[in-house]
Amino acid sequence: MNCLDFLNYIRADFDLDSQEVSMFDVVIIGGGASGLMTAALCSMKGKKCLVVEHMPVCGKKILMTGNGKCNITNLEMYRDNYNCSEDGFMEQILSEVSPNRVIEVFENLGMLTRDRDGYVYPYSEQAAAVKNLLVTRCMENGVEFLYECEVAAIENIDERFVITADNMSYEGKSVILATGGMSYKKTGSDGSGYALAKKFGHTVNHCVPALTALICKEKFFKEISGVRAKGNVMLYLDDKIMSSELGEVQFTDYGLSGIPIFNLSRDVAYMLKKKKKPHVIIDLFPNISQEKLTTWFRESKRKYPKTKLTDSLSYIINVKLATAIAKNAGVSYSAKMGEIDDSRIGKIVSMLKTFEIEVVNVKGFDYCQVTAGGINVNEIDAHSFESKLCKNLYIIGEMLDVDGMCGGYNLHFAFAGAILASDSIG
Ligand SMILES: Cc1cc2nc3c(=O)[nH]c(=O)nc-3n(C[C@H](O)[C@H](O)[C@H](O)COP(=O)(O)OP(=O)(O)OC[C@H]3O[C@@H](n4cnc5c(N)ncnc54)[C@H](O)[C@@H]3O)c2cc1C
Repeated sequence: MNCLDFLNYIRADFDLDSQEVSMFDVVIIGGGASGLMTAALCSMKGKKCLVVEHMPVCGKKILMTGNGKCNITNLEMYRDNYNCSEDGFMEQILSEVSPNRVIEVFENLGMLTRDRDGYVYPYSEQAAAVKNLLVTRCMENGVEFLYECEVAAIENIDERFVITADNMSYEGKSVILATGGMSYKKTGSDGSGYALAKKFGHTVNHCVPALTALICKEKFFKEISGVRAKGNVMLYLDDKIMSSELGEVQFTDYGLSGIPIFNLSRDVAYMLKKKKKPHVIIDLFPNISQEKLTTWFRESKRKYPKTKLTDSLSYIINVKLATAIAKNAGVSYSAKMGEIDDSRIGKIVSMLKTFEIEVVNVKGFDYCQVTAGGINVNEIDAHSFESKLCKNLYIIGEMLDVDGMCGGYNLHFAFAGAILASDSIG
């Protein structure tokens, strides 16, 4: 008697209910980007698939991605775009799943894509297109969905899996764990999937929020909220520069946001976790030297001594920022250029070049785009995403201890896992 027969026998014998245990080729836990892609690809290969989703709908997070446009991959795809502690893991995945492979998979599924400076989107630039495409392909190929369904246990019996969910049992030849990380819990990724992986002996490396904003100490943020400025953002620990990012910084009422800040935030989160005190220095004029700015200042003072300092500054930076910088340099709002002495000029110029900001926290899991940390990837086979600890168990997507930069890298990783796992199962 095989496992399925045994389960059905037990059910019948104990009169648990009249329903038989359903048998699937692939049971996918989590109906997000990676789970839906796996279900679509496996079902198109003729596999009988079940998606178990604990939310009332699938793919909620997909709809939020890329500001509603869904940045599915990036043509500039390098190992350095990812944080991953295991040597060779990402190299292997990227060598098997290039951006063009992801684009090709979408084209095969029936969607065209659009490239904007290397950032790839669905041609319609609507995230709903991605979600609807994946769900439609699943439905057409007979994928079954269980919504609002919590998995109580997954047991591995005779190289098969018995999944217990909402007092029902389902049997699968393969199981895919695709429950995401812990970012934006309201989309369903609440970290509950880690416990399922731990049951199979997997370890979960410490998780922190990544691709998120920074909460800063200075009081002037309320005054400069809404300002955007291009600059070079440098992350410091004590006097040592740890990393830097060029791009547009957004000043908010609580601190700093924007792509360069997001890209640095996981390092900040890990530093804060270790009770260290990082700070950020922004060079608001990365292409202009301190000497040149000083010369500009002295010349402006000589030629236009009656102009207000804040007005002069507002010719080179946002007026709100100019006012905050003048205030922080200890100069009155109404001070004229002719009244600014050399030491104040030095202070103001150094603020323009090295605007120092103390970071007190990162915006938490409810606001971050991705989770840093997760299941240790040295327990995962990089060719197939199969667990090295349990045959026919696959773990894909944000559950794993891999996080990418802003720009389509996290969805690329989610889709790469789905593609390689479904290749392996197929
Ligand atoms: C605002 C925002 C914008 C983003 N924009 C981009 C972008 O443009 N490009 C990019 O590359 N990345 C982007 N990301 C990141 C990207 O969306 C994620 O990395 C990606 O969705 C991860 O896919 P996943 O399948 O691993 O997890 P998810 O997409 O989070 O899906 C996990 C699914 O599993 C379900 N689930 C969780 N636990 C259980 C359980 N115990 N039982 C059953 N079901 C469960 C969840 O409800 C969810 O449906 C963005 C993220 C956010 C929050």
